[in-house]
Amino acid sequence: MESRTAARQCTRVSGIVFLVAVTLLLLPVCAMAGGGGITRGSVDGQMTASGYDHPGEYLVHPATLIADNMEPVIPHPDEEAESRAKLDALKKRAGKKPNILIFLLDDVGYGDPGFTGGGVMLGSPTPNIDRLAHNGMILTSAYSAPSCTPTRATIMTGQNPLHHGLLRPPMYGEKGGLDGAVTVAAILKKQGYVTQAVGKWHMGENKGSLPQNVGFDDFYGFLGVSDMYTEWRDQYFNPEIALSPSRFMVMEKSNFNHNNVHCKSGGECENLYQINLTTIRDLDQDWAAYSDKFIHKMAKSKKPWFLYHCTRACHFDNYPNDKYAGRSPARTTYSDGMVEVDDIVGRLVKSLEETGQLDNTLIFFTSDNGPEGEIFPYGHTPFRGHKGSSWEGGVRVPTFVYWKGMIEPRVSDGLFDLADLFNTCASLAGVPGAKVTKYLPRDRYVDGIDQVSFLLGPGGLSNRRSRIYTLNEFLSAVRIDEFKYIHAAEMEDAVFQNGYPAGFTGAIATHLGGATAVNLYTNPREDVSIGIRHIPAIVILGKELLRYKQVLQKYPPRVKVSFF
Ligand code: CA
Repeated sequence: MESRTAARQCTRVSGIVFLVAVTLLLLPVCAMAGGGGITRGSVDGQMTASGYDHPGEYLVHPATLIADNMEPVIPHPDEEAESRAKLDALKKRAGKKPNILIFLLDDVGYGDPGFTGGGVMLGSPTPNIDRLAHNGMILTSAYSAPSCTPTRATIMTGQNPLHHGLLRPPMYGEKGGLDGAVTVAAILKKQGYVTQAVGKWHMGENKGSLPQNVGFDDFYGFLGVSDMYTEWRDQYFNPEIALSPSRFMVMEKSNFNHNNVHCKSGGECENLYQINLTTIRDLDQDWAAYSDKFIHKMAKSKKPWFLYHCTRACHFDNYPNDKYAGRSPARTTYSDGMVEVDDIVGRLVKSLEETGQLDNTLIFFTSDNGPEGEIFPYGHTPFRGHKGSSWEGGVRVPTFVYWKGMIEPRVSDGLFDLADLFNTCASLAGVPGAKVTKYLPRDRYVDGIDQVSFLLGPGGLSNRRSRIYTLNEFLSAVRIDEFKYIHAAEMEDAVFQNGYPAGFTGAIATHLGGATAVNLYTNPREDVSIGIRHIPAIVILGKELLRYKQVLQKYPPRVKVSFF
């Protein structure tokens, strides 16, 4: 028995030894031929590591064209099917389509809120925002345009600035705006939504650009941008005007709406009160109260709703009211603004919860551009550049999406362009993918992508292969995965070495060397070009830039408001 067992064991051991020997013999062959047929190596020889493919990396994956006038997508049919099943189940429970709340901050940088590293560390705690973010999906690669109006019009139209033509913000009544464009609000309205905008508009003051004429049932807020109402009144900032009676009078009579207004669909805007150094202090509270009232009112409605709430803070100049002055440990007017908007987020979410609407409401939180850098105090970013530039600091914005019971708490670096809000909101309302083009003129190009499955699907994979960067009238850069290939860039200190040069002050370099590229994982500060070392990747990005140049030939850029 013993000898038989020993013999059996011996056979087993011999078998294992044989298998190991064969494996060892084959390994180099596999590595060479090999193990998948690939030979890998390093500068000091061949290696056997097979490496890893990470989900959501699309450098070598072509995107799929779903309509001639839309950006191509990376489809995820299983994720899409699961997302639709979740939405259908919710609709059965709630009895209506989901509500959508976009909460848009102004000039708040990627590094400002606590959930992206700021908050308490900067003396401006954001506990409400952070709690919501950590219970939602944080998007670390969400992109705005370089400044206010270009981004806002991008959200409304799903087009990047080169296509919608608002290349910079119109100031002090300058012409140019949405001019009758089909907005996401108009599409949602057609799907049975009640559409409400509150706060900053800044997408044109002419009749065809007013909120009630581009799809909103109701608007309560101002039509321009915060500083327009106060900077020339302030003797500390612009004494040359504030302390000159004749100059002051010209500004006071200048042709832009100086008021907080109320506009209703089918009617004119009603002027409510003048915005000045006194009334501006309470604007955010006034607007929050209006949105709060809307949320309470809609709790009783059978219709779903879309609320686009845009704060006044933290755009310069901040004049905190008595309740908020000094409320932040940093005690700057900017950081007090951060604390105030955090309170407002908390207040609106509490109202959603109290009225039983939190489960059926998607909350999208973001900022319209990176931190301003020319007027202190301003926001923060860990990245290079400021508002006005297409460096990451100018366009990578603190973003999360929260939906109780529908979106898993997680963090994703998948690409999300704020243009995607246009498609994603339409999709949530029942107009997915290419169907949105049915609502648009044929010559209108859509730069946004339906990201419903990215947000709701279990895999959390972006449907966007690349992100196109624009800068004023230029096509600036393209990103795929961690690589960014730069074509035109703002050189913030190219002209002035003194003062506060930033996104709007320098010069734009448009004839870069051809291999100007960065790796945003290893060098998020964008100060080391890796183009020549990483030619295999950069060639692919170059092709993507060329693809988009061809899109621009077919759907030419428009210029409605520009610097020159
Ligand atoms: Ca802004």
